Formats: sequence, structure tokens, C-alpha cells
Amino acid sequence: MKPFLSVNEIHSGYDGVPVVHGVSLEVFRGEMVCIIGANGAGKTTTMRTICGLLHPEKGTVRFKDQDISRLPASRTIRRGISYVPEGRRLFPKLSVSENLSLGAFIEKDKREIVRREEEVLTLFPVLRQRANQKAETLSGGEQQMLAIARGMMSRPELLMLDEMSLGLMPSLVEKVMETIVQVNAEGTTVLLVEQMVQEALEISHRGYVLQTGRIVQSGSAKELMKSDEVRKAYMGM
Ligand code: ATP
Repeated sequence: MKPFLSVNEIHSGYDGVPVVHGVSLEVFRGEMVCIIGANGAGKTTTMRTICGLLHPEKGTVRFKDQDISRLPASRTIRRGISYVPEGRRLFPKLSVSENLSLGAFIEKDKREIVRREEEVLTLFPVLRQRANQKAETLSGGEQQMLAIARGMMSRPELLMLDEMSLGLMPSLVEKVMETIVQVNAEGTTVLLVEQMVQEALEISHRGYVLQTGRIVQSGSAKELMKSDEVRKAYMGM
């Protein structure tokens, strides 16, 4: 089986400062895969390079068997990739519903947008009661749900989630994770970046460990959870 997404030896960084040094990874259709690693390991940089917010200096990113390395994010979203950045980046003064519509900006048909909003609100019931509320009035957990829900509005085939758990209480982390499991179970392939390693591995099929811009370990989530290196370095054991 060919990978859905394949990242081949990418090098990328900012203004000539290299951050990611030859990262390769694969995601198969239907999988949930996580990238784990410490602060500054290059997880966000890898995600940005995959979705086209950055371009690799070397190496390639292939999605559905096509080279997307040079496409901007405005094009990769049309090919089916949705990236939910770290820090949510909602429009605080706009309502939940308006934030959702913006997630479907590539869709011009208003009825289709309404249809998708209905679908997404079914998946995220907490947002339904708050559809007309300004995003800034939501709790942290609800805002994170909204960020993910907005990412779903483009009907992605590959949903990329960056640090969903950041700043959330443990009970909310669990809620957000449950929702992601459901999104994945309903057919969306998921690539996520997390610092909550245990939680991320519990919901993922496979994982990659990124250290100073390089993949140092990979395997099934079960294998990684048992690995002494992973337990020591990222699970405080
Ligand atoms: P975190 O979990 O802390 O976000 P990360 O693994 O996602 O960490 P990156 O955000 O990819 O790491 O950052 C990796 C390195 O790249 C860091 O040393 C950071 O200082 C640098 N970096 C990130 N963004 C920029 C930028 N816009 N300009 C210059 N350097 C950057």
C-alpha cells in the first residue's frame, strides 16, 4: 500500500537557519499518527513544511502520490490537508458560527457551508449551544474544540493538529482527545503533534520521536509507550 502522506528527507527552517534536518515520515490513509518531542524539537516546523506554510530546502512532501513540496497552504487545503495551528488562532470578536464559516473559505456555495456547519456541530455538540456567541467568550476547551471544528470545515482528508492540549485542564484534554478519536474513526486521517506524550500515544496508531530536528525513534504507539527512552525522556518515568 502506498502512503497517503510521505515526507522524504526534508530540511527546513527560517531565513537560512536550519531547524529540521532530513525528517522522513509516512502516514497511511485512515491512520492517526503522532509526532512527539520536546520544546523546540522542530515539530511545528515539520507540520508547517508539510502543509505549505514553509517549503523544504531539500527533500519532498508527497500527498496522494503527488509532490506538494512547492504548493502554498492555500493550495494544499484544496488538495485535502487542513492544519490547525498551535494557539488556536480564532477570530475572537466573531461568533462561533462565523469562525466555522471561515474554515470553509474555499467553498463558495453557501448552502454547502451551512450543510458542513451542521455536520461539524453534530460532531462538536458543545459548540451548538454557543453558535452565536463570540469566540472570545468560550472556555479554553471550547475554543480548542472550535479550532478543530473550523479545521474540519474544509472537509479535510488529512487533519493536522498542533498541540491541541496546550493550556487545557486534564479533563478537557481528555474530551478533546476523545473528539479526535471520533473524527479519525469517521474516516479522517490525522497527524498530530503533542507534548502530552502519554495521552497522544494512547489515541494514536503510530508515532515518531523528533529530537533537535531529527527523527530518533518510530514505531507503533504500543511499542513507543513501552520504550525506555520514551518513558524516561517524555513520560517522566
Ligand atoms: P514547541 O513545542 O515549543 O512549539 P516545536 O518542536 O514545535 O516546539 P518549532 O516550533 O518547530 O519546535 O521550533 C524549532 C526551532 O525553530 C526553535 O529553536 C525555534 O526557536 C525556531 N523557530 C521557530 N519558529 C521560528 C521563526 N518563525 N523564526 C525563526 N526561528 C524559529
